[in-house]
Amino acid sequence: MSGVYRQSPRCSNITGRIPDDNTYHPSPAIFLSLMITVYCAACGKKLFRYQKIGKGRLLHCWHTRISSDYTVREDDDVYCSCGQHIGVIETKWINMHGGSFTVKGSALKK
Ligand SMILES: [Zn+2]
Repeated sequence: MSGVYRQSPRCSNITGRIPDDNTYHPSPAIFLSLMITVYCAACGKKLFRYQKIGKGRLLHCWHTRISSDYTVREDDDVYCSCGQHIGVIETKWINMHGGSFTVKGSALKK
């Protein structure tokens, strides 16, 4: 697919670097974008359907990119319904607790 990372005046501020998921919020038209599903590592239940950008590890889940949310919220903490701690809610994203979840989706293939 030529043209996916094509440089254009419109995105000149981010050329030369393919961002990971946690630092940029690029246009899906420019960068790889696909839906992934996040599962609880303890019980296997579905936690999120999420629009992943790029191929980096999933460290944060931007609130604006979560399309379905099956988690339980208690104050600033995010839990699976089984009680597994999944992450902490920040202003713009959920800070995912590493090891508490698994991800399915081609974004993580290397
Ligand atoms: Zn669970």
